[in-house]
Amino acid sequence: MTSPRVISSIVEMQGAMRELPRAERKVGLVPTMGALHEGHLSLVRRAKSECDVAVATIFVNPAQFGPQEDFSKYPRTLDADLKALQSANCDLVFIPSREEMYPLGASTFVEPPAVAQPLEGVCRPGHFRGVATIVLKLLNVVPADRAYFGQKDYQQALVIERMVADLNLPIQVVVCPIVREPDGLAMSSRNRYLSASERHQALALSRALKMVQGNLSRGERDVAVLNRQMQQTLEAAGIERIDYATIADARTLAEMTRLDRPAVALIAALVGTTRLIDNCLLEISTAQES
Ligand code: AMP
Repeated sequence: MTSPRVISSIVEMQGAMRELPRAERKVGLVPTMGALHEGHLSLVRRAKSECDVAVATIFVNPAQFGPQEDFSKYPRTLDADLKALQSANCDLVFIPSREEMYPLGASTFVEPPAVAQPLEGVCRPGHFRGVATIVLKLLNVVPADRAYFGQKDYQQALVIERMVADLNLPIQVVVCPIVREPDGLAMSSRNRYLSASERHQALALSRALKMVQGNLSRGERDVAVLNRQMQQTLEAAGIERIDYATIADARTLAEMTRLDRPAVALIAALVGTTRLIDNCLLEISTAQES
């Protein structure tokens, strides 16, 4: 395993892409903010298995953090990240500075699509404007054939898919399954903020989602009932600040009253001072219809 080539300049990265031999032209891009875990690495491995060249980016994007959020304390673990990327057979890593991505005077942003408005859009105003802008910029630096995102950030994946369609970007978006710890906790760079007792409390998120899936398979179709049960599961674990615990239309994220079409259950909650998100798709098969 050779270590990935590390590039921090936009011009050099664009040059490296142009210089790829013809036979190695299929490029898979995995944008990340670093502090890598198995969830990120699953995207890199998928990119490597489907493309000739896997490119990861590590950039803690200030434009997607609110003023009260954890931008300055967001974990930065560059040495470990590079080792992990090497183990996942990543070919190139783009690690730009803040000034490289947002030089003085940069003032153009992407207006995100409507699907950015509910849920995270309400709780984190401006977040998806920052996300859409940095992803578009990264795609211009690394003109990949495929870009890999995790279902962990479900709404983000919908925002990117919509942006790619709306702006006619010549790229295929691939959304990959959530990687979890053995006990169910969705892997997240922010899990390292959790104390032992908070780590235990945090299991209530995946438990609440599992409960919804269980009740759905037993025939429950009333969204208000399922939403209330999710809320109660979180509260019973002592999680007090729940930003949302709700079922929404899987494509539009519109609210639903009955589970009569593909849906997604989404949770965002503060465990201690750490904001965690999780979700699961709810497939309504006709066999399950009551
Ligand atoms: P981040 O570094 O948090 O911006 O995440 C970079 C990419 O990794 C995003 O597409 C995330 O959705 C994805 N990701 C983060 N956590 C997981 C996970 N547990 N499983 C799968 N993908 C993930």
